Amino acid sequence: MTDAYDYSDRIGRVEPSATLAISNLAAEKEAEGADIVDLSVGEPDFDTPANVVEAGKDALDAGHTGYTSSNGIPPLKEAIAAKLRGTGIDASADEVIVTPGGKQALYEVFQTLIDGGDGSHPSPSGTSSHSGDEVVLLDPAWVSYEAMAKLAGGSLSRVDLAPHGFQLEPALDDLAEAVSADTELLVVNSPSNPTGAVFSEAALEGVRDLAVEHDITVISDEIYERIVYDADHVSLASLDGMADRTITINGFSKAYSMTGWRLGYLHATEEFVGQAGKLHSHSVSCATNFVQHAGVEALANTDESVEAMREAFAERRDLLVDLFDAHDVDVDVGDGAFYMMIPVDSDDQAWCEAAIEEASVACVPGSAFNAPGFARISYAASEERLREAVDRLVSNDLL
Ligand code: PMP
Repeated sequence: MTDAYDYSDRIGRVEPSATLAISNLAAEKEAEGADIVDLSVGEPDFDTPANVVEAGKDALDAGHTGYTSSNGIPPLKEAIAAKLRGTGIDASADEVIVTPGGKQALYEVFQTLIDGGDGSHPSPSGTSSHSGDEVVLLDPAWVSYEAMAKLAGGSLSRVDLAPHGFQLEPALDDLAEAVSADTELLVVNSPSNPTGAVFSEAALEGVRDLAVEHDITVISDEIYERIVYDADHVSLASLDGMADRTITINGFSKAYSMTGWRLGYLHATEEFVGQAGKLHSHSVSCATNFVQHAGVEALANTDESVEAMREAFAERRDLLVDLFDAHDVDVDVGDGAFYMMIPVDSDDQAWCEAAIEEASVACVPGSAFNAPGFARISYAASEERLREAVDRLVSNDLL
């Protein structure tokens, strides 16, 4: 049935999330009784630490069920600021907005900084040109950055890290070519979804030099910060010259296995918080009250649980490296997050379709991250299921 709604240009510019589309397909097949090894998911497969769950329940029992102040409850904002100071960022509670997930924090940043073009120069395809503010992405890039940039009306410029083993340091010259005085925003995500790459301090210093030279604001999405293996995580905002031009994004989903709680935050200057806070208060009002109380507990008392999850991810990563090695699959293995990009046929969409239809293994096509020729696998799955996945892919001639 066609409907009578007159859709905005804005919504026509974006597609549904490709990662969620694959996860939905896997869930559908499972509901029909198929045994799918689902390596498409972007969430830890652990329970939320019990003390955090208790804190959430206690907060409900204590009646923390109303609205909170828009930018978040003071104890959580204080705890977040203290956490950020621990990674070398000179943060105070007034520079934080607590959001329902890191995704909402990112959305608010794009809406606050990016202007659309005037649409007065139709492209050959007849759509408006979107000659809006320029956003630079490092490919492969997490799916939602592009969508958020487009929703805000921005134009995209991209730097491909795939030829450099997904690392930024060897790609700094390419980045220097991509940025200019016209660049409004650069997005850096380390550890990276979908590659797992952790960018070196030298790479981040290179970003700093370019950002200062061209007066660029940088989003540093540090949501996988607690999941690092043989590398050190460096917060971009801690580098000299970056304090007032970095917006740090983080959240509770990955570090504390709290995806469904929906809790994240942004840190920037107080002035930025004043501007983005307008959007925050007119859209979500605030993050869920009792969830914020659970967040205070997560920041205070979860070091052991976080370490146990990190170690489990490290073992799984090493297992996969051995399995791929045994089958001569050459993978650029990252030092963080729980993802790997494996090289597949140039038609990665077709490869992923075959993987789910023939081998019952769900992966996300690299094209979703602007990295054709790869598939993203998530190792947020048990060692047994990871072995099973590789066996199935090999026996179906997909590896
Ligand atoms: N940034 C990146 C790179 C992510 O992978 C995700 C989750 N997939 C998010 C942000 C948002 O996570 P959440 O909204 O659950 O905090």
